Amino acid sequence: MADIHLELKAKLEKQRDQLQAELAESGTPPADGMGYGTHQADDGTVAFEQAADLAMRENARRMLYQVERALFRMEKGTFGICQRCNEKIEVARLKAIPYTRYCLHCASVAQE
Ligand SMILES: [Zn+2]
Repeated sequence: MADIHLELKAKLEKQRDQLQAELAESGTPPADGMGYGTHQADDGTVAFEQAADLAMRENARRMLYQVERALFRMEKGTFGICQRCNEKIEVARLKAIPYTRYCLHCASVAQE
């Protein structure tokens, strides 16, 4: 395995751990003790925060999936290969987005 892959693997594993921690953390309801006796006006805020939290979790989950897929491809030895044109993905691009599946050209076409 090339050095760059080892470097990116460490990066991906760190990212995966962070995302997993993030998902585990935000799953628990806030324990601020002001759940009862809130006025109608506050419900909108709570709903908004829950929606924002949900969107964030959805994002983190999707990202985690991509990161895990990338680590899986590393094990299989297909990491860094564009899944669309089978060309090598630019190293600079991999450094910026280690979990990417496409080379720069295909990403602009496929809208990753
Ligand atoms: Zn490509």
